[in-house]
Amino acid sequence: MPSVIQLLPDVVANQIAAGEVIQRPASVVKELLENAIDATASKIQLIVKDSGKTLIQVIDNGTGMDEIDARMCFERHATSKVKTADDLFKINTLGFRGEALASIASVARIEIQTRKAEEETGTKIVLHGLDVKSQEVVATPTGTNIAVKTLFYNIPARRKFLKSDAVEFKHILEEFQRIAIPYHDISFSLTHNEKEMFRLSSGSLLQRVHQVLGRNFKEKLVSLNEETDVVKIEGYIGKPEFARKTRGDQFLFINKRFFRSGYLHHAIMGAYENLIGQGLLPSYVIFLEIEPSRIDVNVHPTKQEIKFENERLIYNYLKAAIRHALGRSGVIPSLDFEQDPAIVELIRPKRHESVKDSLSWSGKKEDFRNWEQMYEGIEAGTSAPPSTEIQTIIPNWDDTRQDDKLGSESRSYIQVGQRYILFNKGSGYVLVDQKRAHIRYLYEYFLGMGNNSPATQKLLFPETFHLGHRESATLAEILDELAKIGFDIEAFGSDTFILHGIPEVMDQTSRAIDLIIKLTENFHESHMTDDKLNQVIAANLATEASYHMDRSLKQEEMKQLVDKLFACEEPFRTPSGKACFLEYSFEHLDKMFNT
Ligand code: ADP
Ligand code: MG
Repeated sequence: MPSVIQLLPDVVANQIAAGEVIQRPASVVKELLENAIDATASKIQLIVKDSGKTLIQVIDNGTGMDEIDARMCFERHATSKVKTADDLFKINTLGFRGEALASIASVARIEIQTRKAEEETGTKIVLHGLDVKSQEVVATPTGTNIAVKTLFYNIPARRKFLKSDAVEFKHILEEFQRIAIPYHDISFSLTHNEKEMFRLSSGSLLQRVHQVLGRNFKEKLVSLNEETDVVKIEGYIGKPEFARKTRGDQFLFINKRFFRSGYLHHAIMGAYENLIGQGLLPSYVIFLEIEPSRIDVNVHPTKQEIKFENERLIYNYLKAAIRHALGRSGVIPSLDFEQDPAIVELIRPKRHESVKDSLSWSGKKEDFRNWEQMYEGIEAGTSAPPSTEIQTIIPNWDDTRQDDKLGSESRSYIQVGQRYILFNKGSGYVLVDQKRAHIRYLYEYFLGMGNNSPATQKLLFPETFHLGHRESATLAEILDELAKIGFDIEAFGSDTFILHGIPEVMDQTSRAIDLIIKLTENFHESHMTDDKLNQVIAANLATEASYHMDRSLKQEEMKQLVDKLFACEEPFRTPSGKACFLEYSFEHLDKMFNT
């Protein structure tokens, strides 16, 4: 009998690897920019066409490659950066796995020109899906010029699933910013469809932040600077009064590498506690510097999640450093870094316990659902029955009539039947449906958070679940979308998934899994546009996460909910079109009494 085991052809093996590393044009951008930085370039040009679907080109003035390396670099595990397993623990360069170029080349057409400074001529190579089409000696400037054309040309299914140009370009822009900010001593340019979008000259971090984020950032920022044995914390944080509803200007770097961390984001939000309104986010560009051997950047193929020792310690340091910086800037009374309660607490016995980071984190779960915290610990039945509530409002009717002039601060709210909130407004009164208001608010919250660090609550015990064939395919397709709103789901084999994290606003893993199953069942075969898909997911999740909203609320909670609703772009209706509130005039009331 002939043997049945065969080795996968190289190109297939690389395409499989590419599936992990190269998800979209932005992933190529990231890898190419990182290579240029690793090659110590001082000037890097990024040129893209059609959001990278047609062309992604990076031109650098770095070390370049000789003829042999120019060929070698497309081999799997070809890297000049790691020579022994030991090197893996002290990585300082951005790339090190030696698979990016091999992966990219297996799914695109490549043209590379490269020359080392000490050589007179350079090398030009053309590859189609790893087949070398030509190789010649050329005259070319020192450095590397690599063009990646028609990404996924040989994997139509992947090409088809690329998102709209606007979405893909947004991802490219994000990658560009995440690299341009930390490498402020390198000049960068970004040209899209022949139009120059950015030209960043080398300069200080502050100048770069200013150039990249724009919008008069300078006066809005407070600088951050703190050093301990374990970590150095530097960067800029936004003054509380400039906090905004939208995400996008939150950047965390570890050893100059962008990373996501719901955990550390929470530390930052904690430092701003009581300084910014509910639902608002401060801007931040924070750099952590930790000895490379203490972190593991290899945990995620695209290296955006990072494991490090002493997570809890860093959490507390970061929080204290921010409070300290805000203190120095006069926003809050100044505190010495070492005397900060967060640090003092750390120095006390706890330090010697081996507390598992995630354990202590989930132990304080309420803290994490910042906006939801207000609903915690409310005992049923604390509000009076509806009829007496209505009576108590009448004596104050005239006073509260003035409320609109005074603003919502002084307004009083009455809860009706654990379902509605009643308050005066102008020459009438408003009845808000609590649950629907909450759904509307969450819906917009989820849609608005699409572009950066989803607020994820990591599960202490990841949950494995299984789906049918079609549902699995659907889920695989919407994983990206779900990640944006805070789900951390790993595909594990064809029909198995592991839930590692759920959106902060959800409080039960089982509900989260039910929701995912429901979503995948409803979704298959309905080909939706990205925007529509986002909306459907957001609407479902908002509804699911509001299941507990029919209950009694305190004054402050009612105020917050009402404020949030009216801060929405579309406060009138739930995503499914039901009214969130009703507005009545006093005339209407008078009429009712006159009948
Ligand atoms: P890694 O960056 O993980 O080493 P890559 O596949 O990204 O793997 O690159 C493979 C190798 O090709 C690098 O280690 C480097 O030696 C070389 N290389 C890639 N891009 C450049 C560049 N722009 N300039 C010089 N050398 C490069
Ligand atoms: Mg690389």
